Amino acid sequence: MEKREQLYEGKAKKVFATDDPDVVLVSYKDDATAFNGLKKGTIEGKGVINNRMSNFLMKILEKDGIPTHYIQELNDRETLVKKVTIVPLEVIVRNVAAGSLSKRLGVPEGTPLREPVLEYCYKDDALGDPMVNEYHIAAMGWADDETMEKIAYYALRINDLLIAYFKGANVDLIDFKLEFGKTSDGTLVLADEISPDTCRFWDSETHEKLDKDRFRRDLGGVEEAYQEMRKRLGF
Ligand code: UDP
Repeated sequence: MEKREQLYEGKAKKVFATDDPDVVLVSYKDDATAFNGLKKGTIEGKGVINNRMSNFLMKILEKDGIPTHYIQELNDRETLVKKVTIVPLEVIVRNVAAGSLSKRLGVPEGTPLREPVLEYCYKDDALGDPMVNEYHIAAMGWADDETMEKIAYYALRINDLLIAYFKGANVDLIDFKLEFGKTSDGTLVLADEISPDTCRFWDSETHEKLDKDRFRRDLGGVEEAYQEMRKRLGF
């Protein structure tokens, strides 16, 4: 597969065309942003870890029946994925109160939720990714009902699989963000990444944060936390 022109540069990744119109090459950067781009920095080695963790987890999910965009890891930072049209939603799954849910509902961080909570945000930086519900999504035509049923089913199934998986690494999966896309034949697949940038990981015993909150909240030990996740998962 031949790497061609850059199609897009996001906050944490670049996307390149390939000689196959249905395949793109994703290249992970060390750049980090938070608070809708207000806070900027670099997390040394992050791109390598996010690339490898995301691929590692997507392979596990594929085995368990979740269709994903993953095709092939090329090197530490680059991966071939199916070209998709992204459903313009951030799909958030929560098991324990943290972050914006804690703020919005006045629930202390770390409070277990009785059942998983699914949230949707409309992907629009200028609007600050506002939270929306199924009615907004249908009314705006961002995704049809059948697609949303599948997204909810996959998101909760992915949550079950990842909770069980991370338990083996002594890590609690507090919450995470997913994105889905449609391939050229209309198949819905899991896209984007699953990494410490997009998940909250807490040590099961000490509740130490092992994710991007260390960067967002200036807790220090950011690189070490990403490396610790890599060690624990053994990829
Ligand atoms: N998240 C993300 N990208 C975003 C917003 C949130 O990956 O643009 C992830 C975040 O890492 C966390 C989960 O989604 O694991 C829930 O985030 P929350 O709504 O609490 O927002 P935050 O507190 O991160 O602003």
